[in-house]
Amino acid sequence: MRRSSILLLLLLTTILSFGQAKYVFYFIGDGMGPNVVLLTEMYLAQRNGEIGVKPLCMTQFPHYGTATTFSTSNSITDSSAAGTCLASGEKTKNNVLGLNANGEHVPTIAEILQERGYKVGLMTSVSIDHATPGAFYGQSANRNSYYTIGKQLADSRFNFFGGSSFYQPVDPKNPSSTNLYDYAEQAGYVFAHGIEEAQSFIAGGKEQVILIQKNEGQDRTKPGEGHIPYAIDRVPNALTLPQITKCAMEMLTASGDPFFMMVEGGQIDWANHANDAASAIQEVIEFDASIQMAYEFYQSHPDETLIIVTADHETGGLALGNDKYVLHLDLLDNQKGSISSINSRFEELYKQYGKKLTFDQVKAFFNQELGLYGNVNLTEEENAQLLKTFKEMKKNAQTTSSMYNDNIYPICKEAMGLLNKHAKVGWTTHSHSAAAVPVFAIGVGAERFSGYMDNSQIAPLIIEICQ
Ligand SMILES: [Zn+2]
Repeated sequence: MRRSSILLLLLLTTILSFGQAKYVFYFIGDGMGPNVVLLTEMYLAQRNGEIGVKPLCMTQFPHYGTATTFSTSNSITDSSAAGTCLASGEKTKNNVLGLNANGEHVPTIAEILQERGYKVGLMTSVSIDHATPGAFYGQSANRNSYYTIGKQLADSRFNFFGGSSFYQPVDPKNPSSTNLYDYAEQAGYVFAHGIEEAQSFIAGGKEQVILIQKNEGQDRTKPGEGHIPYAIDRVPNALTLPQITKCAMEMLTASGDPFFMMVEGGQIDWANHANDAASAIQEVIEFDASIQMAYEFYQSHPDETLIIVTADHETGGLALGNDKYVLHLDLLDNQKGSISSINSRFEELYKQYGKKLTFDQVKAFFNQELGLYGNVNLTEEENAQLLKTFKEMKKNAQTTSSMYNDNIYPICKEAMGLLNKHAKVGWTTHSHSAAAVPVFAIGVGAERFSGYMDNSQIAPLIIEICQ
């Protein structure tokens, strides 16, 4: 009798201590390795004249783990293999979305929880058919099959999607195909163009909402923008990730029903691909502001909420330090926009003056945009190198393209590289790296995400905590 009472007590304790998460927030910082988080915290301290860190919300969570990210085909994963693993727990090959290495679909957290009666919202700062959100509803042997993946989005019947647009609204192989806006409307979705429209749909009780940028979908056959504006380029009236998150929360929390939300900070990755530290920092701050909203929700529902923050992989091979024992992260404050916006302004200048553009004008431009020749003192060698690139450009004005950064003038890339170098920020690659990523957790079952793990362990744990 006594023994059975103890067993019963143990069982109850186990159930209670593991608890059940009714409200789940899954934050995925694309390309958000450990150093870009620390870079942001050290930058925030250093711009206040302090050495150390000014903590972000995510790093204050009580449970911390670190996750390896390799795929079945590559030591260094891409976003589709990593997204698939974070969504389902199954590793797969690079470039594959929503299918395991044998080509079979493995149910995702979003699909499983939808069946269990949870409402589902998926949002991102890039397009809603991109690899990370796509991994929660789509299946394709090729992550770039955007049209197919966009149809699967509508087929999911998930409650909320938010992001820039559809990247490929019409099937490129079949131009007379139904465009994705019409297709999604036939599946019961309404398109909200901007925050105000989304809020009025939500207030009106709409159950399936797709929030996109204001002008997206006006021409329903035109490819959409690949992303919302970078946080560093703040554009009035354009969407921001915290606004999208707020809208989703207004919709999903209204009824008191269980919900699962995935929020992707998609442009942390894009900034890291460009080796653009100042833009990456602002993306991390924006991502963290979304996490802060979830944290506030957690504070009023601490026994029913789980928040997980992680990344799909590291991007850029970011290093904090490239010379001696110092960082000058405050210098990054001199950068006035993302590399792509600086490049656009440079292009305007170059088009205006053409062959008559002088090196003095270029110096004044980079002084304005990046603080070079002002707060950032270039060495003679650095100046000579920039002059050489300038002369080459006048002979042959070719631009270069890399992932997510098209038609960049080499001189812009070089000038921003000099700012990063002087800030003592190092980069080893314009691609991804194999660095293990952070896992921050708070709430019901959060302690189970502590320690050194593999990214395949995360999704099964979330599913278990939501039984
Ligand atoms: Zn990624």
